[in-house]
Amino acid sequence: MLDYRLSDETEALRTTVREFAREVIAPQIGEYYERDEFPAHIVRQMGELGLFGLPLPEEYGGGGGTYFDLCVVLEELARVDSSMAITVEAGVSLGAMPIFRFGTEAQKQEWLPRLCSGEMLGAFGLTEAGGGSDAGSTRTAARLEDGHWVINGSKAFITNAGTELTGLVTVTAVTGTRPDGGKEISAIIVPSGTPGFVVGKRYSKVGWNASDTRELSFDEVRVPAENLVGERGRGYAQFLSILDEGRIAISALSVGLAQGCVDESVKYAGEREAFGQAIGRNQAIQFMIADMEVRASTARLAYYRAAEKMLRGEPFKREASIAKLYSSEVAMDNARYATQVHGGYGFMNEFPVGRFYRDAKILEIGEGTSEVQRMLIARDLGLG
Ligand SMILES: Cc1cc2nc3c(=O)[nH]c(=O)nc-3n(C[C@H](O)[C@H](O)[C@H](O)COP(=O)(O)OP(=O)(O)OC[C@H]3O[C@@H](n4cnc5c(N)ncnc54)[C@H](O)[C@@H]3O)c2cc1C
Repeated sequence: MLDYRLSDETEALRTTVREFAREVIAPQIGEYYERDEFPAHIVRQMGELGLFGLPLPEEYGGGGGTYFDLCVVLEELARVDSSMAITVEAGVSLGAMPIFRFGTEAQKQEWLPRLCSGEMLGAFGLTEAGGGSDAGSTRTAARLEDGHWVINGSKAFITNAGTELTGLVTVTAVTGTRPDGGKEISAIIVPSGTPGFVVGKRYSKVGWNASDTRELSFDEVRVPAENLVGERGRGYAQFLSILDEGRIAISALSVGLAQGCVDESVKYAGEREAFGQAIGRNQAIQFMIADMEVRASTARLAYYRAAEKMLRGEPFKREASIAKLYSSEVAMDNARYATQVHGGYGFMNEFPVGRFYRDAKILEIGEGTSEVQRMLIARDLGLG
C-alpha cells in the first residue's frame, strides 16, 4: 500500500522542530554565521529536545524513533538554517550511527548515552587531503602494539571535530594488507584529547559557516585495541554503508533548504513592490516560485521513497543516491531562483536566502559528489 502520510508522532515532532527552528534558531543564527562561530548553546538545546538520539533505541538513551524521523527533523531545521541541520546530521548519522551499527556492547554503553543526549558530539573521519571520492586511498595507518592501536596520518574536512562538545572521532586507517594485496582498512574510535591527536583550526568556508569543520592530524596516537569498531578490515565497507543511509539524511536536508527558499520567496514576493504592485503579481515571479515548489515537493518524495525502502529492510542504495543527487541539485536551483526573486536584497547577508545560496553548493559535494552518485546509480543499473 502506498501511504506517505506521517504518523501522529512524527507530525508532532515536525511541529516541535519547526517551532524551535523559527523561534530559537532563526533570530540568532545569522550573527553566528557572519562571525564564523559555532553556537554551542543552540546545539545543547537541540540535545535537550532529543534530536541527537532520535533513531537510536531507548536503552542507549535514544528516542526509539526511526531514521525517517531524523530526516523529517533535518528537513525542518534546514528550512531555516543548514549549519545547525548538518551539525545534527553529522552528530547522529556519522557520529553515533557507526558505533550503534558496528560497535561492541561495551562501546555502545560507553559512548551512545552521551552522544544521544547531545552532551557530546561525535565525528566521522574518512576523507583525507589526497582523497574524498576515492576514500579507499586512505593513507592514515594504524599498527597494533602492546594492546594499543598506534595511529599516524591526517584527515581533512571533518564536521563536528573540534567543538567544545566534541568527544570522539571514528577514523578509517590502514591496518594491514588484504590477501589480494589491497589495503586492509579498519575503523577506530579516537577520543578527543588523546595525546598526539591534533585538531586544526576551523576552515574558512563558503557556507555552513556556523558549523564546525576541521583538519585532524595523528602523530603516534595510542588508543586501546578495544577501540576498533566492528571487524578488523571491514572499516571501509562499514563507512560506505553509513554513507548510504547518510545520503537519505543529506537529501532531507537539501529538501529543507529548497523549501526554505520557497517560504522566503513567497513572503518577499508579497511584500516587495515594483511598478506600483507587489512583484508577486508578475507571472514571471509566480512561475519561478511555482517551479521551486514543484522541485522541493518531488525531491521530498525521492527521500521518502529511499527511507521507506530502508525502513522495510529492502535494498535502498540506488534510491538513496537518486534522492541525494536530485535533491541537492534542486537545493542549488531553488537557492539561485530565490536569490533572483529577492533582487539586490538576495545578495545581502541580512536575508536568509543569501545564506541558503552559500549553503546549497556543498550539498552537491559532501557525502558523495553528484558524479559519485551518478556512478553508483549507473553501476546499480548494471553499467560499468
Ligand atoms: C564542509 C564539508 C564537510 C565535510 N564533512 C566531512 C566529514 O564529516 N567526514 C568526512 O569524512 N568527510 C567530510 N567531507 C569531505 C567530503 O565528503 C568530500 O569533500 C567529498 O567526498 C569530495 O571529495 P574531495 O573533496 O576529495 O573531491 P575529489 O574526490 O577530489 O573530487 C573532485 C571532483 O572530481 C570528481 N571525481 C572524482 N572521481 C571521479 C570519477 N571517478 N569520475 C568522475 N568524477 C570524479 C568529483 O565528483 C569532483 O567533482 C566534508 C567536506 C566539506 C567541504
